[in-house]
Amino acid sequence: MAPDGRRRAFILFGPPGSGKGTQAKLLREKLQIPHISTGDMLREHIQAGDWIGQKVRSLMRAGHLVPDSLVNALVQLRIENPDCDHGFILDGYPRTVQQAEVMGRRLGEAGVVPLVIHLKVDYNRLVARLSGRRQCPMCGTLYNLSTNPPKIADTCDLDGSRLAIREDDRESVIRERLEAYDAQTRPVLEYFQTSGGAFFAVEADDGSPNVILQRICSLLAS
Ligand code: AMP
Repeated sequence: MAPDGRRRAFILFGPPGSGKGTQAKLLREKLQIPHISTGDMLREHIQAGDWIGQKVRSLMRAGHLVPDSLVNALVQLRIENPDCDHGFILDGYPRTVQQAEVMGRRLGEAGVVPLVIHLKVDYNRLVARLSGRRQCPMCGTLYNLSTNPPKIADTCDLDGSRLAIREDDRESVIRERLEAYDAQTRPVLEYFQTSGGAFFAVEADDGSPNVILQRICSLLAS
């Protein structure tokens, strides 16, 4: 909850590989509010093998976005949970103008103030980052072979599990995801910039995750 008593939604926005997930986890620690990642929610459904998982699996494997109506409903349900009463962090949502419009309306009705944090990364770096990304299947910790490697190769520093490559972090799929970003998600930037809400652009090209977190916090405090 902000000092003025209003609920805040921190929206981490940027292309795949810009560090949204990493920054969302750091912000969650700092602000003690939930981190809501639509990608993680969808992967959980795939893992569970339920009807949602079955519906989205092939789309995600191919690097395509899943239908707006589905993610809108998942996010709506999630943010009604009482743990979101003091604010929350959105990672990977909204990703289309339609999602942004629905989200804008719902947050407005609920009296939640959106703050958009745009993580800016040079396009050419994204492919390298995504192809070097590894994740612990147990605790979700993210690593990067070049910028943030585990202490022991292929092994999670925290629980010793063998690190995994996400299905959609393979080179051919990475290109599809970046194309989906350009075609469907980049236009959301214009929506945010013209909607009159709080919008912060952060250079996320260089620097450790903590340095980038500091940049975000200084901007939010300004
Ligand atoms: P992420 O973990 O955020 O990179 O998301 C992984 C994949 O989940 C994306 O490539 C999409 O297939 C799907 N996805 C996640 N969030 C959304 C969203 N807001 N809208 C549509 N598809 C999404």
